[in-house]
Amino acid sequence: MKDATRVVRAGCSPARQGASLLPGPTFASIFHCSGDPSQCEYSYGRFHNPTWTAFEQALELLEGGPAVSFASGMAAVSGLLGTVLKSGDILVVSEDCYYTTRLLPGEQLRSLDLTVRTIDSSSSGWEEALSEAALLWVETPSNPHLNIYDVRALVKLAKQAGALVAVDNTTCTPLLQKPLLLGADFSVASDSKALAGHGDLILGHVAARSGEWAERLRLWRTRMGAVPGPMEIWLTHRSLGSLDVRLDRMCSNAERIAELLQRHERVQKVYYPGLKEGSGRGFVPSQMYRPGYVVSFELSTRQEADRFLQNAQLIDEATSFGSLHTTAERRARWGGDRVNAGFIRLSAGCEDPDDLAADIDRALS
Ligand SMILES: *Cc1c(COP(=O)(O)O)cnc(C)c1O
Repeated sequence: MKDATRVVRAGCSPARQGASLLPGPTFASIFHCSGDPSQCEYSYGRFHNPTWTAFEQALELLEGGPAVSFASGMAAVSGLLGTVLKSGDILVVSEDCYYTTRLLPGEQLRSLDLTVRTIDSSSSGWEEALSEAALLWVETPSNPHLNIYDVRALVKLAKQAGALVAVDNTTCTPLLQKPLLLGADFSVASDSKALAGHGDLILGHVAARSGEWAERLRLWRTRMGAVPGPMEIWLTHRSLGSLDVRLDRMCSNAERIAELLQRHERVQKVYYPGLKEGSGRGFVPSQMYRPGYVVSFELSTRQEADRFLQNAQLIDEATSFGSLHTTAERRARWGGDRVNAGFIRLSAGCEDPDDLAADIDRALS
């Protein structure tokens, strides 16, 4: 069965006369549970919820390993770091992974006294960095420069060093890239982006290679209380059904936009893994099935970038990415990324390709 079919059916109930296809959200803190609580399928809303169960079953089919959902992407990230790492461990991170993730070791996880080694996609120092490391954390493609890391090659090096590997798969979702099948131990994601895909909720998950790790992550979620709301889970499960169709349109819109931008005289540089030249070089089709829906580009000044964002009528100026609405922003307004003042990250949505192309062309001129 292909993913496009899986996303429609995964986690839905078996056919039963009169039952709904995808049961609605179960809102409960308390469940009927008498006698021995270990015999109750559901007892208390922080431990488990049938709406989570159905969604996690769907994720497992797509990821290729048991999945644990969390209240947000950062709850998933911190849950994984907190579960895997112990005091004094060495953590290796790709230098352009999510900014908030990079902040944790020196701030909220300071008491773990981690040694953090940072490495970039073009570096040859991976072997040295991984020596005696406990965990390698990579995000591919990264944001906002869309650098590609070769997961299979890094897994090989990490295994030799005895390190576990986590891939932040937020941008791709398991439909464009499956870290567990590439050999990673964990696939981590913010589902607030393309997976939920409507710009209306916050959610995250971790899929693990082994059931044992999934159990430990679940225990972390229960103890720390990083639990997702049933409504968010249900909305995301509902949105999962259209994920393949949405990504298909978003990726082809992005391909068209990247080509348009590359030809435009006002645009100084385009970053998109699907380009034949320049930034497209690192693209590994056997790792990432399509080049994605995020396109970054440089205009010469802050004023030009602001004017573009003001003039574009079909592009909402907003942070984040992966929504069915096309969005863009000038990244330098946040600080934190190493970008010039005219650098824009654009996330292609599901609008009509001709409308989008015409709007972008008009906004640039
Ligand atoms: C957004 C994001 C996160 C954090 O997710 P939240 O759902 O906002 O908590 C982590 N990693 C990446 C790559 C992201 O884009």
